[in-house]
Amino acid sequence: MGTVTVWNENVHEMRDPVVAERYPDGIHGAIAAGLAADGFEVQTATLQDAQHGLTDDVLAETDVLVWWSHCANDEVSDEVAERVVERVQAGMGFVPLHSGKNSKPFTRLMGTTCDIKYRHGGETERVWVVDPGHPIADGLPESFEVPETEMYGEPYDVPEPDQTVFVSWFEGGEVFRSGLCYRRGRGRIFAFRPGHEAYPIFFQDEIRQVLCNAVEWAAPTQGAEAVYGEVKPQTDPDGGY
Ligand code: ZN
Repeated sequence: MGTVTVWNENVHEMRDPVVAERYPDGIHGAIAAGLAADGFEVQTATLQDAQHGLTDDVLAETDVLVWWSHCANDEVSDEVAERVVERVQAGMGFVPLHSGKNSKPFTRLMGTTCDIKYRHGGETERVWVVDPGHPIADGLPESFEVPETEMYGEPYDVPEPDQTVFVSWFEGGEVFRSGLCYRRGRGRIFAFRPGHEAYPIFFQDEIRQVLCNAVEWAAPTQGAEAVYGEVKPQTDPDGGY
């Protein structure tokens, strides 16, 4: 497969020393390192880059876009968001992580609020594989723990997914559909919940395994040509095929 682009708003790392210490190369740097270690060709882009680093040229060479955002979702320009949506519909894979669920591209692709309930405080999360035969679950145990995280709770206002790969349980009792697969146009989307900026979640082995699997799964396939508009009949005018 071709290039994976890891996009990060890269704002918490600049403002919060705790996050900067957790992610000295940025969240994008940690995610990119995990993918590169598995042999993927990876580049990164951030909100601060011209056109947020997501120019037509960059998106054209991107097979899968991994996206982390949180406090600056509104600062992403409508033009860039729309460009991402169009590329997904044309076949680019899209993997929004954690609060990237509130990003303009993801909410536009879903058509719903993507609202949740949440709680800060470093609770334990247990991520259960609920679709063990799914390619995104390859190599994972039946379940695994994220020792400290932000809680996300149902209901999660998204359309019914094509597949639910993970469901999370939290110490406080809530549950959450934490790994959801969609298709929009020719593009595959995998929304993955873990990844709060205050914890070293993107260095965790199981999380890195999920991201490698997700990128592999979301990569474009060749498929067939699509023909739209007015067409002549497929049957010949004298009858028969
Ligand atoms: Zn968070």
